[in-house]
Parts: sequence; structure tokens; C-alpha cells
Amino acid sequence: MSITNRTVRLARRPVGMVTAEDFTIADEALEEPGEGQFRVRLDYVSLDPAMRGWMNDAKSYVRPVRLGEVMRAYAAGIVDVSNHPDFKPGDAVTGLFGVQRYAISDGRAVARADTKIAPLQTWIGGLGMPGVTAYFGLLDVGKPKAGETVVVSAASGAVGAIVGQIAKVLGCRAVGIAGGPEKCRRVVEEYGFDACVDYKGGALAEDLRAACPDGIDVYYENVGGEVLEAVLGQMNTFGRIPVCGMISGYNATEPSPAPRNLRSVLVNRLTMRGFIVFDFAERYEEAITALTMWLGEGRLKMPEDIREGGVDAYPDVLNLLFTGGNQGKLILKL
Ligand code: NDP
Repeated sequence: MSITNRTVRLARRPVGMVTAEDFTIADEALEEPGEGQFRVRLDYVSLDPAMRGWMNDAKSYVRPVRLGEVMRAYAAGIVDVSNHPDFKPGDAVTGLFGVQRYAISDGRAVARADTKIAPLQTWIGGLGMPGVTAYFGLLDVGKPKAGETVVVSAASGAVGAIVGQIAKVLGCRAVGIAGGPEKCRRVVEEYGFDACVDYKGGALAEDLRAACPDGIDVYYENVGGEVLEAVLGQMNTFGRIPVCGMISGYNATEPSPAPRNLRSVLVNRLTMRGFIVFDFAERYEEAITALTMWLGEGRLKMPEDIREGGVDAYPDVLNLLFTGGNQGKLILKL
């Protein structure tokens, strides 16, 4: 017996910001799971900046989503039918299930969500991929030491908010960069950063200098372009720049001229290293254990921005990431 599944399939390769026409959103028949498979009724889909890159036909760290394919996405839900020995109906799970109402899985790369520790959606947020990204990018790539100044861009977002809070746990000075006074207020008052600079305020370099009187030792890069240029001008000798993302360029149709001061990497002997969270796949448990502990101790907040509208709202809600319309981990409720 089949059920009706609502899916979002990539219809064409977007140029600039996505539009509804880039996708086919429709009801489809979904067959019962086969032997060794189970079906998940998805409740939450994670909206990630990387999705925009996955839509491009370009060399990257994963293959592009194919035209006609269900849009790749992390999602969380509850197993409702199972022919798999290790998963039973009622199990809460997360995985790369796609932007759709139901998914069929063979259990590979599926994680369990312990809803006694945190609500289901947090397992695709602060205790899922974004939290783990913050953890390894800061600790393993940024290597901050107590007393150092850590700057993070997109500081009020899913990854950035956690980076700054971990920096505080480690005894660092945490300085955020975010868009607008309200986001900056939250970064300081709610997430406990020492300062936050509004990059839309018109005086980024000056404001950053005032917020970082001892210079910058670690810059956790989420944005790229002009923000990177401003930070590069204030890095301390032997500083580290974990390159997590460069969101300012994800919808760009022309390359950004900034940063124009990469010479700073040479003269300050900086280490600038890109990473993808998958690089740490063998160690996810370590990150989740630490994040869970800090969450339980009240030292970590995991802001979530949950939007209604089901899979049909996917294109509009995704764009919030690129207009700064989200406040914390952006999640689509199905
Ligand atoms: P966020 O929750 O931080 O949302 C994105 C935020 O980026 C927006 O709210 C906006 O905040 C900011 N932003 C958008 N466009 C621009 C722009 N043109 N210039 C400056 N800021 C901009 O998203 P995530 O936490 O999920 O992702 C943050 C970064 O981490 C992204 O670059 C993403 O690609 C990267 N990432 C990398 C991973 C990896 O494995 N390397 C894994 C996960 C995420 P504001 O209003 O402050 O401008």
C-alpha cells in the first residue's frame, strides 16, 4: 500500500537567490519500505546555507543535487513503519532525509535523537550538524587558548552563536560580528559574548578595533568578502582562521573583490584552514557529549528559528538565511 508524500525536487539550477520556480513541489505516491528499510515521518527540516551550493553544478565536497532529485537536507522525524532490525516505530531519528514529508531509509548515516536530553529539532541544530561544526571548527582548527580573542561572524546564527559561547567556556574573549543592532544585542545579552559589532553599521573596522583592543587571535569565518577583509587587517601574529563558510558569496553571480589584503596571512604568519564537518565524522560523539554537557550545565544556548508552512514554504524560508531574516538555527516545521 502506498501513501502520499509531498516532495521538493530541484527543477533547475538557480541563478542568485532561489525562487519557487527552481523547484517542483508536488504530491507523490510513496511505496512501503522494503526489507531492511524503514519509513520516517519527518517533522523538521534543517535549512542550511550549504544547500545553495549543493544546487550548483560545480565541483565541491559533495556531488551537486541532480535535477529532478529530492532536495538534499538534514531532517528529523519519527520512524512509523520498519522492516529494519535496529529501528522500530516510534524511534526519533535524524539524517540526510531530504525536503519531503516522508523518507525511506536503510539506516545508513542515520542518528538517534534522545528527546529526553533535548527536543527533536535540536538534534538537527545545536546538537546536530551546526553544533558539531562549531565545536570542531573552533577547537580543532582554531585552537583557541584561554585569554585569547576569538571573533566569529554570522554570530547570532546556528553555528556562530555556539562558537562564541564555547569560546567563553574556554576562557577566551568572544566578539561577534552580526547584522543589525537587535542581533548584536542578543549576541551579547542572551549568548554572553563580550561584544558584538554590527557590520551593517558603516564602521566595521573601527568598531572591530574598539571591540578587540588586543587584536584578534582566532577568527571563525562564516561570511567572507568585506567582513574577512576587515578582520584580516586586525589579526595578531600566528593567528588562526578556521574557514567554515563564506555565505556572502553563495548567491553571487560575480566574484567578490574582497579580501584585498591577503598579505596579512604572510606578514602575520596566519594559519587559514578550510574544513567541512564531515572531516570529523569519526569524532561526532565527542562533540555531542561536550555540547550536551554544556547545555545541561546552562552554559550553552542553542537558538532556534522554527518556521511554519510545510515543504511548500522551502524556497522562501531558505532565502531568510541570505537576507539575515533568521535568528538562530533555521528550521522548517512540517
Ligand atoms: P546562520 O544561522 O548563521 O544564518 C546565516 C546568517 O549569515 C544570516 O542570518 C546572516 O546573519 C548571515 N549572512 C547572510 N548573508 C550575509 C552576507 N552577505 N554578509 C554577511 N553575513 C551574511 O547559518 P549557519 O549557522 O547554518 O551557517 C553559518 C556558516 O557556517 C555558513 O557560511 C555555512 O555555510 C557554514 N557552515 C559550514 C559547515 C562546514 O562544514 N564547513 C557546516 C555548517 C555551516 P546577519 O544578519 O548577521 O548578516
